[in-house]
Amino acid sequence: NDTKESNIPTSRTNTVQNLRRSNVVKEVEKLKKEQRRAATEAGRRKSRERGIFTNGPWKSTLGIIKYDTNHRFFRGLEYRRGLDIKPLSEHDAIEDHLITVCVRKRPLNKREATRKEVDVITIPSKNQLIVHEPKNKVDLTKYLENQLFRFDYAFDESCSNEMVYRYTAQPLIKTIFEGGFATCFAYGQTGSGKTHTMGGDFNVVSASFFEIYSGKVFDLLNNKAKLRILEDGKQQVQVVGLTEIVVTNTDDVLKLIQKGNQARTSGQTFANSNSSRSHAVFQIFLRSNNNMTKIHGKFSLIDLAGNERGMEGAEINKSLLALKECIRALGRKGAHLPFRVSKLTQVLRDSFVGSNSRTCMIAMISPGVNSCEHSLNTLRYADRVKELGGGDLQTN
Ligand code: ADP
Ligand code: MG
Repeated sequence: NDTKESNIPTSRTNTVQNLRRSNVVKEVEKLKKEQRRAATEAGRRKSRERGIFTNGPWKSTLGIIKYDTNHRFFRGLEYRRGLDIKPLSEHDAIEDHLITVCVRKRPLNKREATRKEVDVITIPSKNQLIVHEPKNKVDLTKYLENQLFRFDYAFDESCSNEMVYRYTAQPLIKTIFEGGFATCFAYGQTGSGKTHTMGGDFNVVSASFFEIYSGKVFDLLNNKAKLRILEDGKQQVQVVGLTEIVVTNTDDVLKLIQKGNQARTSGQTFANSNSSRSHAVFQIFLRSNNNMTKIHGKFSLIDLAGNERGMEGAEINKSLLALKECIRALGRKGAHLPFRVSKLTQVLRDSFVGSNSRTCMIAMISPGVNSCEHSLNTLRYADRVKELGGGDLQTN
C-alpha cells in the first residue's frame, strides 16, 4: 500500500495522510539532511523562498534541492505512465450537441523546450484533461495536485487541425445549410493556439473578416477601415459597410483569411501585439439566390482576444463574460441575454437568438508549467460555459 501512496496524492485530505505514512517521505527526509550539509545556508534559503515552480528559471535551483523537489516532481509526472492513455481517434463518434465545448492542448514550442519547461497537462482520454499543478506544503515540500476536467472532446498535442475540424466546425456546416447560425470560438491565453486552430479550411459562398479592438470594429479586408454598428427596430444588428467577398472554392477562403490575418498583425510583435487584445471575426454567409439581402445561414469563426489580461483588459473581460452568459443562455429558453454589454456579443446577437443556432468553443491550453494558472483559468471558464463537471482525480 505504501508504494501506491508514494504516487502523487490527489485531494488535500489524502495528501496529508499519504505523505505522513509514506516511506518515500522518510527517504526524502534523509536525503534532504545530507544535501543540507552540502548546501550553503544562504543558497538554501534563497531557493526555498523562490520556489522552483514560480517565475524564475527553475533550473537555477537544481543543485540544492534536487531530490527533494525535482526528483519528486518527476516522480509526480511519472504518474502519467500509470494512466491508461486512450486519446481521441477518428473512429470515435461525432456527437450531436447544441453546444459543444472542447479543449485543445498545443505541443511545447521550441522556446519552452529549450528552457526545459515541464509539461503539466495530460490528456488521458478523448474527453478528459488533467492539470498537474505544482503546490507547496507548509513545510515547503513540493507536490503535484491533479485536477481533472471533462469536456465533450479533448484534443492532445498530436492532434491535427483536420482532426479538430472533424469534431468541432464540420458538424456545424449542416446547420447553416439548414438555414441556421453556427459559431465556433477559439478561446485561451495568447500563444496557446487560437489563430492556429482557426486557420482550417472551409468552403461556401461569401465571406467577411473584421476585428473588434477596444470596443471598435475594423474591416480586415479593407485596410482596417473603421465600421459602425447599427441596430434596427427589430434588433437586427448590422456592421455598416463591411466588405463581403464572394468565394467559390477553398483557396478563395484561405486567401481571405490570410489577407485579413496580415492586416491584423502588420507591424506588431508577438507578445504585446494588438492582435492579442482584439477579437477577429471571420464570417461565411449563405445567401438565397433570389434575395441576396437575406442571409440563409451564417458561420462565424472567432479568434478571441487573449484572456490573460487583468485590469488592463477590462473591455476584454467584459466581452468574455458577456459571451459566456450568451452561450449559456443558448440552451435555455427565455433567458435574458446581455448582448449590448459588448460589441462582440452585439454583432453575434443573431447567432445566439436564432431557433436553429449552434455553437462550439475550443479552449486552448499552453502545456508549460509557467502557464499553469492561466490554463486553470481557461479551463474553469470553459467548464462554466457548459457544466459537464470534473473534479479531483481518483488515483490507484
Ligand atoms: P494565439 O492565437 O492563441 O495567440 P497562436 O495560434 O498564434 O496562438 O499560436 C502560437 C504559436 O504556437 C504559433 O507559432 C503556432 O503556430 C503554434 N501552435 C499553436 N497551436 C499549435 C499546435 N496545435 N500544433 C503546432 N503548433 C501550434
Ligand atoms: Mg492569435
